[in-house]
Amino acid sequence: MTETAALRTAPLRARAEIDLAALRANVRTLRALAPGAALMAVVKSDGYGHGAVPCARAAVAAGATWLGTATPEEALALRAADGLDDVRIMCWLWTPGGPWREAVEARLDVSVSGMWALREAVAAAREAGAPARVHLKADTGLGRNGCQPGDDWADLVGEALRAEREGLVTITGLWSHFACADEPGHPSIDAQLGQFREMVAYAEQRGARPEVRHIANSPATLTRPDSHLDLVRTGIAIYGISPSPELGSPADFGLRPVMTLAASVALVKRVPGGHGVSYGHRYITPGATTLGLIPVGYADGIPRHASSAGPVLVNGKWRTVAGRIAMDQFVVDLGGEEPAPGTEAVLFGPGDRGEPTAEDWAQAAGTIAYEIVTRIGTRVPRVYVNVAR
Ligand SMILES: *Cc1c(COP(=O)(O)O)cnc(C)c1O
Repeated sequence: MTETAALRTAPLRARAEIDLAALRANVRTLRALAPGAALMAVVKSDGYGHGAVPCARAAVAAGATWLGTATPEEALALRAADGLDDVRIMCWLWTPGGPWREAVEARLDVSVSGMWALREAVAAAREAGAPARVHLKADTGLGRNGCQPGDDWADLVGEALRAEREGLVTITGLWSHFACADEPGHPSIDAQLGQFREMVAYAEQRGARPEVRHIANSPATLTRPDSHLDLVRTGIAIYGISPSPELGSPADFGLRPVMTLAASVALVKRVPGGHGVSYGHRYITPGATTLGLIPVGYADGIPRHASSAGPVLVNGKWRTVAGRIAMDQFVVDLGGEEPAPGTEAVLFGPGDRGEPTAEDWAQAAGTIAYEIVTRIGTRVPRVYVNVAR
């Protein structure tokens, strides 16, 4: 990922502008919504495509006291970055043989979902001569990672408490994750919360004294105050995107989209009616018109599923992808207009300059806005604006 000031002076083929003032404001809005809880900024997958380190620094400046990633490698990279030495960093997607010792030495908080992971954390703590900070993960109904209730949980909690008494682990957290928090009123939300309370109560009765109990992701943070507990783990909302359009728009929650994706129109030309456009000729010009070449494609993360559907703002008007999106480029029908090559084409942004949003692209591609921003490829430079607080 390019993160360069030099590039800003030259016209760019394409750029993802990242508004860090918007990100900081989103973090403050979310903190105000969950005033009793610490806020973890989830910056996995390169900050949902926005750039993990700049977004992590901005989130911390706005009051996030935790950062969250999926993989240990992502977490270790954050710890190594300037200015992130003191913040708590948690990672949760481990596989056997992972960098447990490095994680202990880097003072990461690690998730443990099963006995094999606890054993590897304990072994790493012995080698490192320092306790591993572990968050025991309960599967309260998601059916993905996490420890099942009942005997499995009893065994895991028992073993973790034994290791804690030996000074090899500190049980810093008890945690879980929702399956359907983006569907308000879904019965699984109350069921999971109830199950979580029971599993926490069991661990605490046995002697666990976790610093944080946490289950809320962005949708739960926005809609279920009773789920905030000690810590909320907000990902998509810090990037200013609503977890689902049914829940509300970003503006409904006081959030502002952080990423604007724009490209320079590479070519404008007149063509006659009946002209096939792009691979497979899935678009045929209905009459004499002008075509604009937009120099980004699926290699840049523009979903090919949005062929003949994705919206682009050119010269103040919404245009639609004409025919197939190719690896590096696609075409729009400009309806006879002839903007100069180099004119800015905005694929998505906050929406207040009339441009489409990532949600519009999600609808066009049959996916969710999370995927739209996260997929934007490394070939697209990220240009950071409003970096200073
Ligand atoms: C990605 C993730 C989050 C953040 O989810 P959002 O819906 O983006 O807020 C929280 N917790 C876990 C375990 C995750 O994997």
